[in-house]
Amino acid sequence: MGFLDALKGLFVGTGRVSGGYYIYVRCNRCGEALRTRINLQNDLSESDAGGYILNKTLVGSGRCFERIEVHLEFNPARQLVHREISGGEFITAQEFDQYWAQNGNPAPRVTR
Ligand SMILES: [Zn+2]
Repeated sequence: MGFLDALKGLFVGTGRVSGGYYIYVRCNRCGEALRTRINLQNDLSESDAGGYILNKTLVGSGRCFERIEVHLEFNPARQLVHREISGGEFITAQEFDQYWAQNGNPAPRVTR
């Protein structure tokens, strides 16, 4: 399975909501699992290349202050074509649920 196939598998399916979906990340510093909602209608900015970009900053529940920067790039059809992350790593919805099943609820608040 290629890299783009892996992306499709991650972003299509669980976590998808009307007009958008969630992305899930893990903090490199403390291992906390975070999620943030992407609204494909309202959150995207037009890029110079003719597509769209979206930058998000996620901060955990307060146990550490690591800022996780997510950068997403979309084509003109608003399909994800590239993604980058610093301060953390992308995880799946299953890994997110698994983390919070082991570490208690509720899931943390996240910021844009
Ligand atoms: Zn952290």
